[in-house]
Amino acid sequence: MIFKALRVVLLSPLVLMSCLPVAAQTRTVALTFDDLPIAATKDPAEAQSVNRVLLDALKKHHAPAIGFVNEKTVRELGRDNGKRILKQWVREGFDLGNHTFSHADLNNITLEQFKQEIVTGENSFRPMLTEVGKTPRYLRFPYNHTGDTGEKHDSVALFLKQRGYQVAACTIDNEDFLFNAAYIQMLAKKDDASATKLRAEYLAYTAVEIDYYASLHEHVFGREIPQFSKKSIIGSPPWRPRNPIPPIVFRTPS
Ligand SMILES: [Zn+2]
Repeated sequence: MIFKALRVVLLSPLVLMSCLPVAAQTRTVALTFDDLPIAATKDPAEAQSVNRVLLDALKKHHAPAIGFVNEKTVRELGRDNGKRILKQWVREGFDLGNHTFSHADLNNITLEQFKQEIVTGENSFRPMLTEVGKTPRYLRFPYNHTGDTGEKHDSVALFLKQRGYQVAACTIDNEDFLFNAAYIQMLAKKDDASATKLRAEYLAYTAVEIDYYASLHEHVFGREIPQFSKKSIIGSPPWRPRNPIPPIVFRTPS
């Protein structure tokens, strides 16, 4: 919520959110960002600007993070522009993962089509990881759809394992995109007072969400487990969700 035009969910396995209230700071939350290089703008300059603000904020807080790439968006942004953003992540010490070529919904396509989505989804970011001695390790299923039949689910799981992937789950979604929609309007109206209030509300809400999911983990597992938060990198106003996203998580969409 610090950034104009950014959608956050909870993503990867690493961070302590230093901006949250004291009670939440004792928990580990991995920050993951979906839909790289950017979700809802085709303007390379804006995409670059959003990415720069995001990475600078993560670095300022010494927060490790992973971004999940849609290769189709890399191309739509202009390959050089899209790749430049991904390279910034890699060269500045962040990780990248696979979010499929076209943000494909496994429930709506065949097994073979989805395998192709995974392979072509690596086109830009795999060579970048190779340059720094890494390989793609995580895949986030678009919409968290892991297969609408047992056969599909198991076949994709095996394919991912053979290709060296783990599934990147997410355990928290703090509805950042809803806050973001209001925030963008406030910025457009130059209503700084409301924007400041909204930022505070967003952080407070996120802390409540983390506490809530921690309590669920206590209930299910008998202990707290490290959290994964997922956020989507969105473009600029006007932003409209491409898919309806349910208000409560544990969780499906991205
Ligand atoms: Zn996504």
